[in-house]
Amino acid sequence: MAEYADIAEITGTATLPAEHYGIRAEILGKLMAQGLPVPRGFAVSKAAVHQLALGTVPDLGPLKEVLKQGALYSVRRSPEQRNWGGPRAMLNIGMCDRTRDIMAREMGLERANDLYSRFIRSYSQKVARLDEDDLEELVEVEFTNRGRDYGRLIDALLEFYEDELDEPFPQDPVTQMQQVLRAVARMWEGTTARILRQARGAPIDAGLGLIVQDMVAGTGSGECGVGSAQFTALATGVNGTHGRYISESQGHDSVTGRGGEMFLGRDVRGPSMEDVAPEVFAQLQDLTAQAREILRDEVLIQFSVQDGKVWVLDARPAERSGRAEVEIAVQLAKDGLQSKEAALLSVTPGSLTEMLHRHIDPKAKYKVLTQGIAASPGANCGKVVFSAEAAQASAARDENCILVRSETLPEDIRGMHSAQGILTARGGITSHAAVIARGLGLPCIVGASDIDIDLRRKRFALPDGRKFSEGDTITLDGATGEVIAGAPDLIEPDLSGAFNTLLDWTDEFRKLGVRANADTPSDARLAQTFRVDGIGLCRTEHMFFEPGRLTAMREMIFADQDQDRQAALDRLLPMQRADFVELFETMVGLPVCIRLLDPPLHEFLPQSPQEIRSLAEAMDLPLAKVLGRAEDLKQYNPMLGLRGVRLGLTVPGIYDMQARAIFEAAAQVQQKFGTQIKPEIMIPLVSANKEVEIVKGRVDVVASEVQMATGQRLEYSVGVMVETPRAALKAGQIAQYAEFLSFGTNDLTQMAYGLSRDDAGRFMRAYVNRGVFAEDPFHSIDEDGVGELLEIAVSRAKEARGDIGLGLCGEHGGDPASVAFCHRLGLEYVSCSPYRAPVARLSAAQTAI
Ligand code: PEP
Ligand code: MG
Repeated sequence: MAEYADIAEITGTATLPAEHYGIRAEILGKLMAQGLPVPRGFAVSKAAVHQLALGTVPDLGPLKEVLKQGALYSVRRSPEQRNWGGPRAMLNIGMCDRTRDIMAREMGLERANDLYSRFIRSYSQKVARLDEDDLEELVEVEFTNRGRDYGRLIDALLEFYEDELDEPFPQDPVTQMQQVLRAVARMWEGTTARILRQARGAPIDAGLGLIVQDMVAGTGSGECGVGSAQFTALATGVNGTHGRYISESQGHDSVTGRGGEMFLGRDVRGPSMEDVAPEVFAQLQDLTAQAREILRDEVLIQFSVQDGKVWVLDARPAERSGRAEVEIAVQLAKDGLQSKEAALLSVTPGSLTEMLHRHIDPKAKYKVLTQGIAASPGANCGKVVFSAEAAQASAARDENCILVRSETLPEDIRGMHSAQGILTARGGITSHAAVIARGLGLPCIVGASDIDIDLRRKRFALPDGRKFSEGDTITLDGATGEVIAGAPDLIEPDLSGAFNTLLDWTDEFRKLGVRANADTPSDARLAQTFRVDGIGLCRTEHMFFEPGRLTAMREMIFADQDQDRQAALDRLLPMQRADFVELFETMVGLPVCIRLLDPPLHEFLPQSPQEIRSLAEAMDLPLAKVLGRAEDLKQYNPMLGLRGVRLGLTVPGIYDMQARAIFEAAAQVQQKFGTQIKPEIMIPLVSANKEVEIVKGRVDVVASEVQMATGQRLEYSVGVMVETPRAALKAGQIAQYAEFLSFGTNDLTQMAYGLSRDDAGRFMRAYVNRGVFAEDPFHSIDEDGVGELLEIAVSRAKEARGDIGLGLCGEHGGDPASVAFCHRLGLEYVSCSPYRAPVARLSAAQTAI
């Protein structure tokens, strides 16, 4: 039974907490307290509404007397959170023969009759549950036969009501209100409403508060109407006018067809409130500004206008794009309306991603062809090409292109640089295409298993038979994984001042460092623009994906004589050194962690007959010999084969060359800048501490040689990439030889699940959709399993070496939930591709606050 106390008048003196009365009641109370013109109203508590739904006839308490006054009332929903939805407003409650006569004296009979007929219709439909179509038909027949005569329409509606229900339409406002409240309460408890709100995150027992409010008729003498308004532009969050106004209206259409919809602010496309009713417009601006101060947020106001006076019916957070969200958060903090902490917490990390990349105009209409895994955000359109060469040719013609491949290989790198987006049929979130695209800031969709590529005919087909040939235009939305036909409108990236201000603020709160995964000097320069705390992973094998270097690299791999290999290494040394010099110069003063070579060897093997021939030429060997050697080097499972430190131990000259290049570069740069360069050298794919002991020993020898030769004192650290489960479990032993550990969670996830990172894309979507995995574990760290390995490793490593450096450099470093996990784990830093660094900085600050 709803108690008398469960209906509270909204006076502005007592707070009406959202958890008891819903968010709308709380906000109206706050606005009223500051003197904003809010129509008189009553809040019905969630508990009372629940009782109503169970069938209790409500005791209207203070409302009873009010309802006898012959005015009209509305009932509006007040859920605890806006996006939980709820029943639509019921208007004009209290309308009956007697009230109609009173209203007619104020606004004229026609308007009063229109309002009466509207109420009978909505009451018949929503409370008495008469058929909507029957009512619609009745109105149509009446208007067709007799013209827009609202008096006659009322007679017909009342008669229909009585015929259908065997009782007259209730003329008593108290009965009407009781029935409306009961009906609205029941709608909230209905199955469809429940499913809808639960999909939006509402708990199973989410309650609904209601607001009973004096109606502002929205029709009558002087300027009257209804609308919504905000004075910040949706897209930018700065000055603008957004909303609509319908004069002579209560909502969707105008009363008795008198008024009409208009723009709020001046607009070339048609009449505006600013021109038609400038004083009303000015009131709105003023009230919105006041509501902003009171609610400490940009707001969208729902309002009614009666005889030129604006009444505030609701104020909700202004609608905003990602960019506007950032702009508003910063401006509110600058205006002293919220703290920096609140500003940081109010921004969704994805909004920064939206600002960094092109994205599809939310207003654009387009057709989605298929969906794959969203591997690198941003949207771009271009003509389909199927090879790296075709992508380069497109770039030479200044034409945008999308590179479509089954999967990408190292030699595709230049083509990827030339393309505006990358689409692969295979692969997962950590596949070659995905990693490179994220580094380049290009939209990328992988694992789009629906596309069937026919390289010979240069086209791909979709399951429904549609075909796209080279030259056809498609668009990739790398944020959603949608492949789109044609070229919908795109919105350009825009790094406003607010973007940088917000990022500056993150540094005041975050405990976790954010470094970049940067492989080349140009990556490092890009990373610097996002003001990272250093480089957490330089994958040195990516430095060789350039034509000249790739050949030298292949010669080194293919050599079966020591002197041939050394000759190839001697050619690689100056290239590596030059890169490291640039890297150290770009990052002076900041840590740079260089990972020794870790190619899954197959990435470097020549694939096509032309490549094999050109390698034979370069090595001056018969084709058969090269083919034979390629056969010898083939591995059944290259990702778990001769990779990382295993290659380093088997062919020690490679790591010796790399260590020398690093130390010579450090010596050169520190001499030039007069600052100590302290490279971090990282050993990949370790599984046993002996591997570390051996490699560290050789690195130390090279360091002393370079010190001797250059006369420069070198400071460096040697650490281990923990990316095999065994390395995580044996982190205590490994820590004896390693000054730092960095978790390579791409491989660690792959190995913990026994799930190939390149093949996961084939079924990941099905697994996530069916709830087998809550999330793609390559995207967001699996805290339960892989996370436990990390926890074990951290505690064992710290026990063995109290001052051990700890970081994470897998792709998870740019995922907000994983960043939060790393913070809780007590890591020193995460490292991610440069474009993801802003999100990581924000997430790190949010978890620290
Ligand atoms: C990893 O395994 O997490 C990692 C960062 O290395 P890569 O992706 O190069 O294997
Ligand atoms: Mg790895």
